[in-house]
Amino acid sequence: MTFRTLDDAMKSGGDLAGKTALVRVDFNVPMEGGKVTDDTRLRVALPTIQKLRDAGAKVALLAHFDRPKGKVVPSMSLQPVVDDLEALIGAPVRFADDCVGDEAKAAIADLDAGGVILLENVRFHAGEEANDPAFARQLAQLGDLYVNDAFSAAHRAHASTEGLARLLPAYAGESMRRELEALDAALGNPTKPVIGIVGGAKVSTKLDLLKNLVGQLDKLAIGGGMANTFLYAQGFDIGGSLAEKDMEATAREIMQEAADRGCELLLPIDLIVATEVKPGIDHRTVEAGDTLSADDKILDAGPASVARLNAAIDGCKTLIWNGPLGVFEVPPFDAATVAVARHVAARAKAGSLVAVGGGGDTVSALNHAGVSDDMTFVSTAGGAFLEWMEGKPLPGVLALRG
Ligand code: AMP
Repeated sequence: MTFRTLDDAMKSGGDLAGKTALVRVDFNVPMEGGKVTDDTRLRVALPTIQKLRDAGAKVALLAHFDRPKGKVVPSMSLQPVVDDLEALIGAPVRFADDCVGDEAKAAIADLDAGGVILLENVRFHAGEEANDPAFARQLAQLGDLYVNDAFSAAHRAHASTEGLARLLPAYAGESMRRELEALDAALGNPTKPVIGIVGGAKVSTKLDLLKNLVGQLDKLAIGGGMANTFLYAQGFDIGGSLAEKDMEATAREIMQEAADRGCELLLPIDLIVATEVKPGIDHRTVEAGDTLSADDKILDAGPASVARLNAAIDGCKTLIWNGPLGVFEVPPFDAATVAVARHVAARAKAGSLVAVGGGGDTVSALNHAGVSDDMTFVSTAGGAFLEWMEGKPLPGVLALRG
């Protein structure tokens, strides 16, 4: 996969001084009472903003916030982000009340080289989510080049993530570049053998993902509630565990597909069972296939499964992870997730494993294990990360292809 980067913009476009870069960022930050409560997403955009400022470009930031559905909703304004952004950049940030039109145009014209402006929520216009060409043209009128630094919005073909990229010279920002490089190293063009870990609650939400992965990986470990469905499909007793019994046939198809494609499936061989999901509750370890009572719930993988999975990881060069191996929010049912996460992170830190994780609960599970910093890459992109793991083309990324 090749895509155009900011370095390409500087090489081919030469001098960016005084040019206006329209930069799509993800500023959909958590807010309470008009105050940003977690500025991670603002920080993620800083390397791109700084690189463009250093090159003397004017930086016009485009972003969405929440779901105003094509109407101006004052409580969904991006204005409250400005103060935090100024503090992080260490320079003034202007704000325009509309992301298109004369006011935005005039405010951008008024910026000095290296100046930064945040434009109001692109989703205040219905043309954004409709990827309306006329709206994309209005956006394009404001700048000389387009930079997409919002991987998390790249699974949507919207005007500011896709349409605009077709109208101006388009480049991946620094955070987008890092994400794409990590994803490519994990699944696009990985060093083999490659192992995947897929856990979480349900097979049904990860069907496309499992089907795509069995065609790509050398080994796939299945954990969490979804492993129960696979155990059930093999005729094992799962007591009163969370499972999707109606997905039994699908689970068998996936097992067959894995066998056909030469992907070794690793299902738990021992299990942690309790009658209630409560912190510190009495629990016991059973072997897969043991008889369970109707109120027994499988809540985690057991120590033998962890040891076998860790040994399988040792035989691999690349790992991709989505979903916890058990109910990690409620100790002691976090034990397998934490033990495997620490093993993975130690190998990644030692440079012997490329280890990429992401998607929803995986980020909190890896944080809970205290290993996020030692992983090769942890994606916070959620839906875009999952769609990429499903093998779906991401419109916002395709538009940046070199
Ligand atoms: P997902 O969003 O599909 O990745 O699912 C994550 C959720 O699956 C977490 O909230 C876990 O608590 C839950 N989970 C993992 N293992 C189990 C299990 N054995 N039984 C019930 N829920 C589980």
